Amino acid sequence: MTEKSNLDLMNYIDGEFVPHSTEEWLDVIEPATGVRYARVPLSNPEDIDSAVEAANLAKQEWGALSHKDRSVWLDKIADGLETRFEEMASLESRDTGKPISIARSVDAKRSIANFRFFADLLRGHSEEKFEMPDASNIVVSKPVGVGALITPWNLPLYLLSWKVAPAIGMGNTVVCKPSELTPMTADLLMRVIDEVGLPRGVVNLVHGDGPGAGSPLVAHQGVDLVSFTGGTSTGEKVAKSASSSFKKLSLELGGKNSSIVFSDCDFESTIAGVVRAAFLNQGQVCLCGSRILVEDGIYESFKLSFVEAVEKMRIGDPSDEQTELGALISKDHIEKVMGYVSLAKNEGGKILTGGKPCLPSEFEGGYWMAPTVIENVDYNSRCSTEEIFGPVVTLHPFEDEMEAIEIANGTRYGLAGSVWTQDLEKGQRVSRSMETGMVWINTWLHRDLRVPFGGVKDSGVGREGGRWSMDFFSEPMNICLKHD
Ligand code: NDP
Repeated sequence: MTEKSNLDLMNYIDGEFVPHSTEEWLDVIEPATGVRYARVPLSNPEDIDSAVEAANLAKQEWGALSHKDRSVWLDKIADGLETRFEEMASLESRDTGKPISIARSVDAKRSIANFRFFADLLRGHSEEKFEMPDASNIVVSKPVGVGALITPWNLPLYLLSWKVAPAIGMGNTVVCKPSELTPMTADLLMRVIDEVGLPRGVVNLVHGDGPGAGSPLVAHQGVDLVSFTGGTSTGEKVAKSASSSFKKLSLELGGKNSSIVFSDCDFESTIAGVVRAAFLNQGQVCLCGSRILVEDGIYESFKLSFVEAVEKMRIGDPSDEQTELGALISKDHIEKVMGYVSLAKNEGGKILTGGKPCLPSEFEGGYWMAPTVIENVDYNSRCSTEEIFGPVVTLHPFEDEMEAIEIANGTRYGLAGSVWTQDLEKGQRVSRSMETGMVWINTWLHRDLRVPFGGVKDSGVGREGGRWSMDFFSEPMNICLKHD
């Protein structure tokens, strides 16, 4: 590993950028080159204590503001992010290895949209009332208290803003712990929060790894709720730790999602849609459709056109506007993903394209891999049922609706899926039989921020999004008022 430059990030606690309590640092590596370009504090439980204390000190005053007052703060943060749009996109692209076009259109744009959206929802918020003949019930939404917000590396600021905006909007104060691999835009958000002058202690951020910072944060007695997005095995640890003190908990975990393609689909748009669902962000989106189920009648023609479209994808320099596929997040991760390609071969799989490291020459040392399409593995195989979280998909033929549903439901995950057919009744029938939290028909990742987001089975517990976020980040209290 070569060193390029050294930028040392700091924790943000009680309205100030502060040094952490140890001398230890973690390297921040640029995935496209494998070069270290910054360092992030390796914080420990002492830093978590300071951040949770600051959040507790701030919670009463912040919680006492009206929804409308807090909506003004969310808009100020959105304004601040907007003025740094290009910085936000290029930091995200560099930190994750994703193409700049995606960092702009997804990460930067949606991070701002999250603050604006929840500001709007807060302005429209009203208390529910239930009348009885002799009394009125008023349901008051109170803050839960201090929230621990823990986020992964694939959509760093997008997922952090998805939690911060509704959490503070509903009157909670928070401590954020972003992934150690992608800390740059979390730091940018703290700079914006500092610039707009949000009251101190409302948003705090502690950098570090899972064991040193994430775990003590979840277990902390001063934390009242945990909103976690990450892998299923980490989610298990988080759930165990949070449940012993009855913290309110939301878990958005892994996925292994099916794209179900029927013979009566609109062929051209389905190919484009299924390729996008498979490989957006190098397949590193929890919603990616990495199991592609194709009805027997069109299996061979679909396979040929799909592979042809995948081979045309432009892989290379993340800062190039034309690039469609960037680098994978880390050395460990690419090794894990390549491990699944070897496993697929052992499971009898045939690699139709990709399956090997692919290194644009100017990016020696980066984590590059050609998009990979595999057929001939059993739909119960490990490769077809475990989350790979990379640019690797498996193709599976199916005979009829029943078999498609059986294959789609044959994993421990239940996050999302998509169905491709021109028969919209069939599309709905199949969707309703799928054991997932979300299904798209003839599209994928067509997001409306008002709808519930989350999964079933090993993909998570609870829902966030729209009013479901408002509910999770608040406690309803009923006041019953007896009439004279
Ligand atoms: P991880 O589970 O490894 O990490 C997620 C976060 O948890 C990171 O900030 C990590 O810190 C932290 N963490 C690690 N160990 C602990 C612990 N014991 N206690 C508390 N926090 C801890 O996930 P990845 O970052 O690898 O992200 C990829 C995963 O996220 C995939 O499985 C993907 O499906 C899932 N995901 C789910 C989404 C959903 O909405 N359902 C959306 C996006 C991703 P650090 O990294 O610094 O160690």
